[in-house]
Amino acid sequence: MKTIKVNIVTPDGPVCETDANTIIAATETGEIGILPGHVAMVSPLKIGALRLIKGDATEHVAVHGGFLEVRPDVVTVLAQSAEMASTIDIARAQAAAKRAEEVLSAKKGDKVAELELKRAINRINVYETRKK
Ligand code: ATP
Repeated sequence: MKTIKVNIVTPDGPVCETDANTIIAATETGEIGILPGHVAMVSPLKIGALRLIKGDATEHVAVHGGFLEVRPDVVTVLAQSAEMASTIDIARAQAAAKRAEEVLSAKKGDKVAELELKRAINRINVYETRKK
C-alpha cells in the first residue's frame, strides 16, 4: 500500500516525521482525507485532531491551528503547537481547562480563555483516544 510522508513542525521544533497511508485533518472548511498523490493544496487548520493511518494503526495528534500543505508525496503541518497523543500531559491539560473555565465564568466571551479552553479540550480528547 502506498504511503505519503508527514512532517509536523511547530516553533518548538519538529513534532513528528513519519509516513502514512491516509491522513485525516480538520481544516477550517471541514474534515479532509489525504491519500498519496493528492493534488497540491494549502488549507488553514482548526484546533482538532490529525489522524495518521498506517495499516491497522492510527496515531492521533493534537494540532492547534496553523496550516496544512499538501503535495503529492508529502504533507506538512505548520502549527503553533502540536502533540502526539503519547506526549500529552493530561494533568496539565485538565488544569489549563479549569483555569480557562474560571476565567470564562468571570468574563464570558473572553477570546483568549475560549481558545485556551479549546486547546485543552482538544488535548484531553486526543489523550482519551490512546485508551481506545
Ligand atoms: P498551558 O496553559 O498548559 O501552557 P497552552 O494551551 O497555553 O497550555 P500552548 O501555548 O498551546 O499551551 O503550548 C506551549 C507549549 O507547551 C507547546 O510546546 C505545547 O506543545 C506544550 N503543551 C501545552 N500543553 C501541553 C500538554 N497538556 N501536554 C504536553 N505538552 C503541552
